[in-house]
Amino acid sequence: MIRFEDLIDKVRTATPEADTELLRRAYVFSAYEHKGQVRRSGEPYLVHPLEVADLLADMRLDVVAVAAGLLHDIVEDTPTTIEKIRELFGEEVAHVVEGVTKLTALQFSSNEERQAESFRKMLLAMVDDIRVIMVKLADRLHNMRTLQYLPEDRRQRISQETRDIYAPIANRLGMSKVKNELEELAFRHLEPQAYKALRADVEAKRKATEGLMEELRQNLVQKLADAQIPVVALEGRIKRLWSIHQKLERRKVDLDQVYDFIALRVVTDDVKDCYGVLGIIHQTWSPVPGRFKDFIAMPRPNGYQSLHTSVVSARGTPFEVQIRTQDMHRIAEEGIAAHWKYKEGRVGAARDEQYFHWLRQLLESQKDVRDPAEFLQNLRIELYPDEVYIFTPRGEVKSLPLGATAVDFAYSVHTDVGHRCVGARVNGRMIPLRTRLANGDIVEILTQQGHTPSRDWLTFVATTRARNKIKHYIQAQEKTRSVELGRRLFEKEARRFSLDKALVTDEALARVATDYGAQKADDLYAAIGYGKATARAVLTRLVGQDGLSERPPDGAIASVVKRVLGGGEAKIKVRGMDDLMVFRARCCNPIRGEKIVGYITRGKGVSVHSAACPNVVNLLYDPERRMDVEWDKGTDASPYVVRLKIGVADRKGILADISTRIAGINTNIKEAEATTDADHRGSIRITVEITDMKHLDRVVKALKAIDGVLAVERAAR
Ligand code: MN
Repeated sequence: MIRFEDLIDKVRTATPEADTELLRRAYVFSAYEHKGQVRRSGEPYLVHPLEVADLLADMRLDVVAVAAGLLHDIVEDTPTTIEKIRELFGEEVAHVVEGVTKLTALQFSSNEERQAESFRKMLLAMVDDIRVIMVKLADRLHNMRTLQYLPEDRRQRISQETRDIYAPIANRLGMSKVKNELEELAFRHLEPQAYKALRADVEAKRKATEGLMEELRQNLVQKLADAQIPVVALEGRIKRLWSIHQKLERRKVDLDQVYDFIALRVVTDDVKDCYGVLGIIHQTWSPVPGRFKDFIAMPRPNGYQSLHTSVVSARGTPFEVQIRTQDMHRIAEEGIAAHWKYKEGRVGAARDEQYFHWLRQLLESQKDVRDPAEFLQNLRIELYPDEVYIFTPRGEVKSLPLGATAVDFAYSVHTDVGHRCVGARVNGRMIPLRTRLANGDIVEILTQQGHTPSRDWLTFVATTRARNKIKHYIQAQEKTRSVELGRRLFEKEARRFSLDKALVTDEALARVATDYGAQKADDLYAAIGYGKATARAVLTRLVGQDGLSERPPDGAIASVVKRVLGGGEAKIKVRGMDDLMVFRARCCNPIRGEKIVGYITRGKGVSVHSAACPNVVNLLYDPERRMDVEWDKGTDASPYVVRLKIGVADRKGILADISTRIAGINTNIKEAEATTDADHRGSIRITVEITDMKHLDRVVKALKAIDGVLAVERAAR
């Protein structure tokens, strides 16, 4: 078991000026918090954070990361909060611990490759400090090393997650040492039979090939010395079990047929020597065609550089050779970690297009930073800055653009889910549809049959898909309404003149349609309905000015218009029109008896405002779109829903007085809500059912007569 003093020594050797006092405090606190907790292995729990911190010290991470390693399980496993950590160890340490705690809370369950990819991206997107992922990887590595103590089902789950998520992340960061160990351990626990069998086979083969390997090595050392190519290291090794296993599976062959069971690795001083070594190797042994790969000229996306080739020995044994410089070797082993360890030699070295985009940017922005600790502090992962990753209720991960809302998510599931979406639950709580989603959110959409998209959604959706679907829906709907409205306006206008019916046909209209940039009669009606053309102008175009002889209005009101809005049924007659598209404007919510005016909206029909509505002045600037409307004289009117705002002195029992008084004049209260401010001024909002203007006047008068009522006004719906 590692001792804390060894850890301190390790950190001091790497960074003499490191704040080891912080580590000491973190260690004592961790020991205290985990006191009494025991790992499955029977060891004290403290061993785990200590080992994790040690792995981080091996990576030469700064004291913040090492301290976070010591503290990483406290928030998860003890009652202590992140605020306590922040208070005791500062913002930076707390930030890393918090990040690790969040990652730990996410569990990946599906082993579908596409899902795994999204999950990995989500994890990385949640990491805004590279140290978070380093601590998490160290945590996972130590857990994998001690996995044998866990019950079978947890071993399986953790190993699968390691193989699908954490090993690929280590790979992505170029940390092949960590990646390799994670993969070997996952293999051992996920396929114990295959693992044991292969290990036995490889052991047997190792004995047979060790002599050969040494022979090849000696041979090459001699050749390179003859060619005067300096070499830093030249070693032979046997490939990892997992890598051999994959090769056997992929090629459906057995161990004897594996090409590169053994491999030589040559480490040189500079790039020129790499190619020199390659030349010597290809002169000494025959290269296997198609096996040479130049990852120096074309680095892998994670920054890996090397020359790879396979050759056949004089005895007919194929083997692989990897050739790289010392710098390349460090990066191959440690990946991103190498960048702060050996920064001096690395920054400004050869760059390549395929090199990690963010890493390149990052290193460039850090070029002038001398102090590795400072370099680390400023290191911020921005792998996928434009995406946000969320879960469906079934645990699938979906990626959406940054800023996406529940509505965007709904449309990403299905167009119908989008159209019918009425609400959303995020992490179990109802949220407004416009709320921006965050990484890791579990999003559930509530739909309702017959619900339709709102134009308002266009102001906040972030995806083109959602925007297009909503626009398309609204436009189609507006088109239908406008055609309908235009037709009625046109027919109404035509009735004012004694027109030959035969003249006013769809065919006749189609002929003049082109004058208005329209194709057919419907388009022309739509133009009238949108207020782009007037019915009168179209008629004139159709029959000529002389064809229009006005007859006196017959005054007959065609019929009654009904439109249900928010429970109240408004009955408004539009002179000469039988129309379903008349609605009371929400801004002023006019009621029977009030003076009203109509306005042809673009695509939504005729909106009816109170003549006193302030919007009327703004809206009716276009006289062509104004319409005369009046209230239906019928008596079977259903009540209107009217909201009243009552200013009151904070008097006991006033709400009861108000209810009694209103009930006394046969009026229903649908809702009442009272609020009081600091000055003992109260405000009561009530929703009442009103039959007409006279009724409303009576109610207002009654309210004003109550002792303590200061003001009564109508509120918008
Ligand atoms: Mn842990």
